Amino acid sequence: MSGKLFVIGFGPGSFEHITKRAREAIQESDVIIGYSTYVDLIRELLTDQEVVSTGMTEEVARAREAVRQAEVEGKKVAVISSGDAGVYGMAGLVYEVLVEKGWTEATGVPIEIVPGISAINSCGAILGAPIMHDACTISLSDHLTPWELIARRIDAAGMADFVIALYNPRSGRRTRQIVEAQRILLQYRSPDTPVGIVKSAFREREHVVVTTLAQMLEHDIGMLTTVIIGNTSTFVYDGKMITPRGYQRKYTLSADEQPLKPHQRLRVENEPWSLEAAGEADETAHSSISSAPSDRKEAQGGSVTLATPLIENTDSGPTATAPVTATATATAVLVAPPATQTVQNPLDWAMQALTAVNEAKGIVTQPASNSGIRPVSSFTPEMIFECAVSPGVANKKITPQQMMALAEVAGEKGELEYTPHHQIILRVPTASPDSITARLRQLGLILSPIGDVLQVKACDFCDGEKKDGIPFAEELHQKLGGKEMPKELKIGFNGCGMACYGAVKEDIGIVFRKGKFDLFLGAKTVGRNAHSGIPVAEGIPKEEIVSLVERIVTRFKQEAFPNERFHKYFQRVGELEGYAWREPAKAEIENAACGD
Ligand code: SAH
Repeated sequence: MSGKLFVIGFGPGSFEHITKRAREAIQESDVIIGYSTYVDLIRELLTDQEVVSTGMTEEVARAREAVRQAEVEGKKVAVISSGDAGVYGMAGLVYEVLVEKGWTEATGVPIEIVPGISAINSCGAILGAPIMHDACTISLSDHLTPWELIARRIDAAGMADFVIALYNPRSGRRTRQIVEAQRILLQYRSPDTPVGIVKSAFREREHVVVTTLAQMLEHDIGMLTTVIIGNTSTFVYDGKMITPRGYQRKYTLSADEQPLKPHQRLRVENEPWSLEAAGEADETAHSSISSAPSDRKEAQGGSVTLATPLIENTDSGPTATAPVTATATATAVLVAPPATQTVQNPLDWAMQALTAVNEAKGIVTQPASNSGIRPVSSFTPEMIFECAVSPGVANKKITPQQMMALAEVAGEKGELEYTPHHQIILRVPTASPDSITARLRQLGLILSPIGDVLQVKACDFCDGEKKDGIPFAEELHQKLGGKEMPKELKIGFNGCGMACYGAVKEDIGIVFRKGKFDLFLGAKTVGRNAHSGIPVAEGIPKEEIVSLVERIVTRFKQEAFPNERFHKYFQRVGELEGYAWREPAKAEIENAACGD
């Protein structure tokens, strides 16, 4: 007599998604015990097994019968659940029956829990990639759990910005819970929050809708449905729900919300947990990186294709017919967090959620519907404001007074970083940077945004002695400085032919000489094979230089791919304002990946 218990999750319902071990376990079994609908789903896999199928509510009876047949009759018994047997399935119940009987692993009948694909995974896969980050499952069935507890969990998950998969969302009898869940979540999330509704995933009558938190109740939701509610950074692209892998919490001048452009999000530094960022990349990871053909960040320009609307939805039916929250233009579909709910570090968020839940334990005695849930605006997340500071376009001297003010605004938590670009970067945790920027500006400091923006890097004009070029440098800074670009763009401006501040080594180099200007375009400013810009013109009249550079910059802004450096753009288009690109003298040298 060698009885054994299997508790098997057979996945969403299609044979392709049943694991190999689940199939083997079914084959090894003498008896299959399960809810009749589930037994029907796997009936084709059965050979000569005896089947004990019961109604849905007879779960305890099923578990007892399984244990009895394994223990007393020495049979190999498979208890089956859809999805994963450990997620609102039979696994826990079988253990409870065993525990009741004093079972131990050493003395009792062997048991094997065979994992399966749960609805959160199968439905998530159909919807795109809505889970991705911290997520939770909540069953809306109050059959075995008091509604007060369920409501509190929805509340906590909403507050903590979890992606939420609602199981058992509605039945013929239970219709109120999903309405109440929506109401609670609307207190924390924008009505535009993407919501995916998947009915019968990977089964015959599969039906998929991508909608919003505001409109979710207008769609059919039943016992075979899982509802997945996005977090504050989930967006819809081409009918797919996508949650980015993390949160950005840095912001810069005149941008209180992160733009979340794909090419910006996909940078290594935005993934502090990644192996590379932590400097722990192993040998294999390293060698695969160093064999990349060119500058690694630029290789990531592959994300460009992400911003291009996909013409064809190659996936089978359902999502194509589903109403979606946005059109397929990249900018329109990137749902930014609501203004009142700026993003922050997930850890901070989790801590806030924990505190709130603990507080609620003491306060909430009635259902969450009137439990005084905090409104969205109660978030005061810690955001790190960052901007570049310099004493002037030409002036390079910081006064002690400016220095002291900088130190004060940085305070104990902020930082000041000295850069190679005539700037100090100020980073300081604050949700209201206005008082900081006002104070620094009042002291004559120039503040510029960080990131892919234009910067004018002028020389000090021999300490202001060779001053004829200064007004042009300042005009360029006023007109173009800080403007957003597809990739950072630096204009070097030097006041005499010595060009000792290296203007010819910037993306655009301008050298003032004998009352006129020389222009250099397309230096490769980084890398071991860096080279200076191509000298495209000499003796440009004074009155023409600013508008000429403006036209070049405008074209770059309009035509360059996201993340495309100026020299690559110039080479690609071959011509700018009549100046032809030509092969610069290059060192034949192997390109190195970032950090190698
Ligand atoms: N053990 C199962 C969950 C059982 S609770 C699992 O891990 O998936 C039953 C709920 O699961 C349903 O109300 C529905 O919300 C969800 N569910 C299970 N299978 C599903 C499927 N194929 N498609 C959509 N939702 C499903």
